[in-house]
Amino acid sequence: MTIDETLATAVSGMPVAPTRGRLRPLGVGEVTLRPGFWQQRQDTNAARTLDHIGHWLEKAGWLANFDGGERRGREFADTEVYKYLEALAWEYGRTRDPEIDLRYRAVVRRVVAAQEPDGYLNTKYGRPGQAPRYSDLEWGHELYSFGYLIQAAVARARTYGPDELLDAAIRAADHVCAEFGPQGRNAICGHAEIEPALVELYRLTGVRRYLDQARLFVERHGHGTLADIEFGRSYFQDDIPVRDADVFRGHAVRATYLAAGAVDVAVETGDSGLLEAVTRQWRNTVARRTYITGGMGSRHQDEAFGDDFVLPPDRAYSETCAGVGSVLLSWRLLLAHGDPRYADLIERTLFNVIATAPGDGGDRFFYTNTLHQRTLGAEPPADVQVPRAASNLRAPWFDVSCCPTNLARTFASLAAYVATADDDGLQIHQYTSATIRTGAYHLEIDTAYPDDGLISIRIVAGPDTPWTLSLRVPAWASGATLDGLPLRRGLVQLRRRFTAGQVLQLRLPVQPRLVTADDRIDAVRGTVAVERGPVVYCLESVDVPPHVAFDALRLDPDAVPVEADGTVVVTCRPTAAADHDWPYRPAVPAGAVEAVRVPLHPYHRWARRGPSTMRVWIPLTPER
Ligand SMILES: [Zn+2]
Repeated sequence: MTIDETLATAVSGMPVAPTRGRLRPLGVGEVTLRPGFWQQRQDTNAARTLDHIGHWLEKAGWLANFDGGERRGREFADTEVYKYLEALAWEYGRTRDPEIDLRYRAVVRRVVAAQEPDGYLNTKYGRPGQAPRYSDLEWGHELYSFGYLIQAAVARARTYGPDELLDAAIRAADHVCAEFGPQGRNAICGHAEIEPALVELYRLTGVRRYLDQARLFVERHGHGTLADIEFGRSYFQDDIPVRDADVFRGHAVRATYLAAGAVDVAVETGDSGLLEAVTRQWRNTVARRTYITGGMGSRHQDEAFGDDFVLPPDRAYSETCAGVGSVLLSWRLLLAHGDPRYADLIERTLFNVIATAPGDGGDRFFYTNTLHQRTLGAEPPADVQVPRAASNLRAPWFDVSCCPTNLARTFASLAAYVATADDDGLQIHQYTSATIRTGAYHLEIDTAYPDDGLISIRIVAGPDTPWTLSLRVPAWASGATLDGLPLRRGLVQLRRRFTAGQVLQLRLPVQPRLVTADDRIDAVRGTVAVERGPVVYCLESVDVPPHVAFDALRLDPDAVPVEADGTVVVTCRPTAAADHDWPYRPAVPAGAVEAVRVPLHPYHRWARRGPSTMRVWIPLTPER
């Protein structure tokens, strides 16, 4: 096929479209969310967040940067415009709303007008009075910006067709290949993102040099082409070659984006060694460097992974974008391997990081997602831009505002992460009310999950021959049943001749459970967390009776948690909390006092009722 023919068939609606792998993704035109937990958030994103982002991009001057004049915002401000475009592209693909289309076109006109004749496009560098192009590869984010430009154009091509943004993205990619190709600069960007973007552009156009360039960037990491900065070269994964590393380290968003690009390169080039390296790093990172929420990155100083088991709840950075990066990476590994544990982590991260970050109104966001809030915060004003992690309440916009736009593109494309297909049938990975229509298949999923564990799957239509429906039984779901029969955890494969109208009833046990951490996570030793289904719960000061000191609460593990009005009620026995001149004392167990029952709410609901203190990990009563 010619490029034009390839592009004409590219309207697939898939955020990630590998040409090979265990599973084939479905596009936003094949899976539709229906009323439920995620559709509510997707609706808020559409009705409020996209407007909010458009408003702030104008207010902060980041969109006007493309029109010329005084440059405003940080080095990477262009990328928020690109992620906004990507979100609009997915939203249009999902709804075909002409107003979204007009908004997209109006922004694209301003963006493409700023492109230089040789394909370079960045409002921060290279113009008179600005620093030269590629004069600061450590911090300049120029290739990172190209990556988001390309991703936005690919999203549009897959939901509408080729347009002038794709022309601009191709010119930019050709410029990158000329400048950084085998004969060009032996260099990488300080922030990964160009790698997965170039592979996606290769998948869209079939042009091999984009894949070759992505592979070159992946392979160049770990050879010290970037400066040894104060955080060390691990910050941008330039310390160890990708195929030699055992675990993710350094800046968590950079690390997950690079790993996603490495999986893309490995899949398209058939490089099993590279795929195995990233798979090993994912496994070790999940086992040793990931919060119970799925959050990644425990260090504030450099927004980075800590050492193994360094997961303090009250210093949890857990950037919202690292949650997005983790989902994007796990999704690629799921498509490559078909293993349900990747979908398990996606589920955990969606319910406990992605759902936590936005406020109910869709116009305030967490940048970081702490697991323990010790002090009452002040509500940031609605019209003020704040430093990235300055507030412990959700803020409308940040100096570094990567998270709101990353959430917007994720919510708009979320349906694509529900199910996949292969030659033998369909696989359902995430449980939410949805319609799946692809090829001969038409399925309807109905559920109030995660509030309720009953999931009804109706086969409206399917092939007349036997086919396989695969269901994920989450690792926590011990005691799950299908039509009353017990199921093992992991992947359940039902191969049969399904009849039209047939309904399957999957029941996942969502009663509350106490969870303890590996002893090596010393920061939470002697504490427990409460989970219910895929949802992590938390204790919030607004739910504690005024006469009880929040810090004095100790959970009694002998009293079984009970559910009441959407909360999980636990029994606590407060210790006598008091301030002392010296906060250490002989190791004699303190006596517990009278029990008090306290409701816990889902962690994703925290800080929605005004300032509060909060903890996910609750100390246990002293042993007596
Ligand atoms: Zn972010």
